[in-house]
Amino acid sequence: MPIDPTEAYDPDNIFAKILRGEIPCNKVYEDDHALAFHDINPQADVHILVIPKGAYVSWDDFSAKASNEEIAGFVRAVGHVARDRGLVVRGYRVLANIGRNGGQEVPHLHAHLFGGGPLGPMLAR
Ligand code: AMP
Repeated sequence: MPIDPTEAYDPDNIFAKILRGEIPCNKVYEDDHALAFHDINPQADVHILVIPKGAYVSWDDFSAKASNEEIAGFVRAVGHVARDRGLVVRGYRVLANIGRNGGQEVPHLHAHLFGGGPLGPMLAR
């Protein structure tokens, strides 16, 4: 079920539980601002999720309310993971779903990193 990005942050969402260590994840990278782990249901050869550590529902919430330090930390973490995983030379895709039209299902901001092979058209038709 797509989430409503205008709702208040739900501290019981699955990524909040992963951040608190209540649910395991297949961790790729962690720093002060972000955590990256493999998507449980990969849609490409490489499918990694990068999440900020702060409590932000979506890209909308994050871009409006996060500090410059949090935003820089998150963006740099996405870039770092892509480089570290060797995705840059052959290319990759970063995607964030927001709300109903975007098909966002987990109400904690996450960037999808896709790579490992040609990814096809930008949007399914
Ligand atoms: P979105 O539709 O953008 O909200 O994407 C949510 C993503 O989270 C999906 O690709 C799911 O496969 C992934 N996901 C859900 N639960 C977990 C989990 N426990 N560990 C890793 N990935 C998850």
